[in-house]
Amino acid sequence: MAAAAASLRVAIVGSGPSGFYAAEHLQKKVPTVEIDMFDRLPTPYGLVRGGVAPDHPKIKSVTRMYERIAAHPGFRFLGNVRIGSAIDHSELQALYDAIIYASGAQTDRHLGIPGEELAGSHAATEFVGWYNGHPDYRDRRFELNATSAVVVGMGNVAMDVTRILASSMDELTPTDLSRHALDALRASKVNTIYVLGRRGPAQAAFTNPELKELGELAEADVIVDTKEIELDEHSAHQLSGHEDRTAEKNLHTLHDFAARKPEGRKRRIVLRFLVSPVEILGSDRVEGVKLAKNRLVRAPGNELKAEATGETETLDAGLIFRSVGYKGVPIPGVPFDQRAGVLPNVEGRVLVAPGALEMLTGVYAVGWIKRGPSGVIGTNKPDSAETADHLLEDVATGTINPRVRGSRTAVDQMLQSRGVQVVSFADWQKLDALEQAAGKSRGAPREKFTRIPDMLDALK
Ligand code: NAP
Repeated sequence: MAAAAASLRVAIVGSGPSGFYAAEHLQKKVPTVEIDMFDRLPTPYGLVRGGVAPDHPKIKSVTRMYERIAAHPGFRFLGNVRIGSAIDHSELQALYDAIIYASGAQTDRHLGIPGEELAGSHAATEFVGWYNGHPDYRDRRFELNATSAVVVGMGNVAMDVTRILASSMDELTPTDLSRHALDALRASKVNTIYVLGRRGPAQAAFTNPELKELGELAEADVIVDTKEIELDEHSAHQLSGHEDRTAEKNLHTLHDFAARKPEGRKRRIVLRFLVSPVEILGSDRVEGVKLAKNRLVRAPGNELKAEATGETETLDAGLIFRSVGYKGVPIPGVPFDQRAGVLPNVEGRVLVAPGALEMLTGVYAVGWIKRGPSGVIGTNKPDSAETADHLLEDVATGTINPRVRGSRTAVDQMLQSRGVQVVSFADWQKLDALEQAAGKSRGAPREKFTRIPDMLDALK
């Protein structure tokens, strides 16, 4: 295995946390490994740059570790290279011993209710990409002249979106929130943000620090109706049966919010439980949302599910964000499981088709394109190690043979012949320095480039 692995050449597609942890694991096990990490953007770090909230700088400091991984002698970053157009999957197979897809979950799930296509109804992921300066979302417009907004879902993305909508300029200015978003949010008229959970407080998907942060905002009151956070018998039984520290802490925080007297601040965050949007109302733009009230029932498998009681209510709102989870997108030429939104795989080894027993030789998956959109950044470390170990096992058993593939020169020549302006890690470091310098004037860690041509021009 040692001799075979010594000349191993791996392509990693995607430069977010899962891609970097896969690279790190391979580097530890096979110091001579050659890794080419591709990204369709000129900038690395995936959701750490384009997803993590601007007011969570500590989480973003994980990129220092990724810089160390990128400094490994066998590592290259090839930014601005889209797999499926600049170079395709079958070409990668010819050029590398193994390919690890770390392409994440680039789109979002829909609610599937009438009115979802109206102006003013958006995916939370678009808003997140927009305020984080992701080039795909840079030019989106959101109806921030509405006074009421609705966020559907009770996960951490919903918390991020709510917090950004409710934050003061003093809170946002010293962050790396993009300038165009800062300007739009400064003019925002949104003063009420409803956050809707289809199940009860004990089933909310957010973690406690994110919930607590809502209560720490300078210009927002958090409003919770005590009646809506009373535990039903199923939830009480479930919590007494097994320890769930997050749910217990969340309940404690929610009771603290419910006991607070609103102080008449500029904005109100209203947390609602046991309600599902069933229709988005409006003729040519969002004017409100019809909600069905729910109760919890025990489903097969013991899960507590929301069931409509038959009672409904209407909320007035001009802006709606669905925040009900991300979804992976297919990669041309690679099998895809449409239902789950992932590459069909067993512990990271990609299958020839969903449900098949046969694996594709030398093709692997890590992160959200492997397991779906769950977990925090750190979850990707063991997840990527599992896949990387299987890759190395496949080298050891001779399933993949590292002596027969292409070279870096062949990759470079192919991209050059197609006119692709590849952005290296050194190039990215130049962009990084420029962004950091540009952020200084507003006391922010950086002012991001938000358009790909601007990034490429800055490197010329
Ligand atoms: P998530 O944690 O899976 O939450 C999705 C939410 O949407 C849940 O409350 C879910 O309710 C609800 N939902 C799903 N379908 C729905 C429907 N049809 N109608 C109404 N509600 C529906 O997803 P996420 O917020 O997108 O986060 C993705 C991952 O990123 C999570 O692991 C999250 O922790 C992580 N993340 C972490 C941070 C952080 O650490 N600060 C920040 C952002 C994201 P049910 O429970 O009833 O299904």
